[in-house]
Amino acid sequence: MKNYLPIILVIFLFTACNSKKQVDLILKNAKIYTVDSNFTIAQAFAVTDGKIVEVGTTEAILAAYEAKEIIDAENKTVFPGLIDAHAHFLRYGQGLQNADLVGTQSWAEILTKLKAFADENKEGWIIGRGWDQNDWAVKDFPDKTELDKLFPTRPVILIRVDGHAAVVNQVALDLAKITAGQKLVGGDIVVKEGKLTGILVDNAVDLVNAIIPALKNEQNKEALLDAAKNCFAVGLTTVDDCGIDYTDVKLIDSLQKTGDLKMRLYVMLSDAKKNYDFLIKNGKIKTDFLNVRSFKVYGDGALGSRGASLLSPYHDAPKNSGFLLSDPDHFKEVAQEIYKNDFQMCTHAIGDSANRTILKIYADVLKGKNDKRWRIEHAQVVHPDDFKLFGENSIVPSVQPTHATSDMYWAGDRLGAGRIKSAYAFQDLLKQNNWIPLGTDFPVEDINPFYTFYAAVVRKDLKAFPKGGFQKENALTREQALRGMTIWAAKSNFEETEKGSIEKGKFADFIILDQDLMTINELDLPKTKVIKTYIGGINVYKN
Ligand SMILES: [Zn+2]
Repeated sequence: MKNYLPIILVIFLFTACNSKKQVDLILKNAKIYTVDSNFTIAQAFAVTDGKIVEVGTTEAILAAYEAKEIIDAENKTVFPGLIDAHAHFLRYGQGLQNADLVGTQSWAEILTKLKAFADENKEGWIIGRGWDQNDWAVKDFPDKTELDKLFPTRPVILIRVDGHAAVVNQVALDLAKITAGQKLVGGDIVVKEGKLTGILVDNAVDLVNAIIPALKNEQNKEALLDAAKNCFAVGLTTVDDCGIDYTDVKLIDSLQKTGDLKMRLYVMLSDAKKNYDFLIKNGKIKTDFLNVRSFKVYGDGALGSRGASLLSPYHDAPKNSGFLLSDPDHFKEVAQEIYKNDFQMCTHAIGDSANRTILKIYADVLKGKNDKRWRIEHAQVVHPDDFKLFGENSIVPSVQPTHATSDMYWAGDRLGAGRIKSAYAFQDLLKQNNWIPLGTDFPVEDINPFYTFYAAVVRKDLKAFPKGGFQKENALTREQALRGMTIWAAKSNFEETEKGSIEKGKFADFIILDQDLMTINELDLPKTKVIKTYIGGINVYKN
């Protein structure tokens, strides 16, 4: 017996070694917020074929698995990859090729930027995005006078930060055949003393957008790849693109299949006949990277440009209540069509009238509790009587916390002291279904999801204003905000079984951060930096 002992020991060690399962990747020594249903904190996990095989302590994972690639997180925090439930991914990428007017402080500054842009880009349309007259000393809309002087032969369109208004020059107006006194539904061509000012609101902007030559595939490819690169750097691993055409979807799908585009996308198709025809004919599209089953409809415009549809007039424009962008019959028709085909309806609604109209149309179709996950995008100003319609009909409010802290300086002027109380009411909305997806609406806001987290939890701007937080009673807790940017965002996309938490069987989409979002001082939240981003266990960003 004595002689056999070394042999038995060798056999034992050999089988012990071999009992370790070979995996592609192990992450160890981390503080992992798994965002599972119990909000469990773990230390390590193993990944194979892009998916998580087990989550546990570092000791347990190393005892059970071996891998060529081992990430030592050095006690840093790890979170599920962040999901932006409402953004404009392609438009953001295209915007990187336009004149960037975000944060400009005056009309004069815009003109200087445009001259420089036109010198660098010598041909074709001059497209600028992101101006906001609320940031200027003189808070009036500009007009086209200076644009006509500077650019007498090249068409110019400068789109407001929210996309709901634009200033264009005479060349652009002529190309779009827009004349003074022309009327249209859901839009406004602003005229002063009988003359065109160049200011276009809502559907009037589309008259010009429609004649801008479509970007070539090559430019769109570059736009998508640039957008993905910037999103990975801030920890986003899935983005909802709210309102693009099926032709864009085809490009996205082909770039994902060749491996060029590594971002996972949830796409809402725009409310246009060609898109309905496409999806009804082809059915839902679902790959590991792409999910198309949803339509984006516009109920009304934005509060900043007074295009949001209100139940009673604007506090600062007593003759104006805003307007719906389509006749209610249109919303009813598409709701029926979408329901019939088992697709998801996502409708932009800012004003309390738009929210009420859409909630009632949804309720008529959905008829009580259901699992269709129809969404209202923004749900920004909701009449106190109407909150319950979300819960009673399982309607999902999809909100963007930075809108609250970007709008808070002037939203009270638009709405008055009473109505503002039920605006940006994220906690009240959350209570309706006990879950709520969060987004940024980039490029309307900065793409940084940590600004979203901070705005949701702290409700202050980046200069820590106002002192007590804006309508703080509607702040979310840190856990709620994190769920809103991960598992609840996944749920709003019908993807909660494959992503949104670090759990066995899910995609290995995760991020390593330089600080702990759940415990650091609240004013440090916006300074959070991503150290590494992984999608399906593949490193897509390294700081
Ligand atoms: Zn949007």
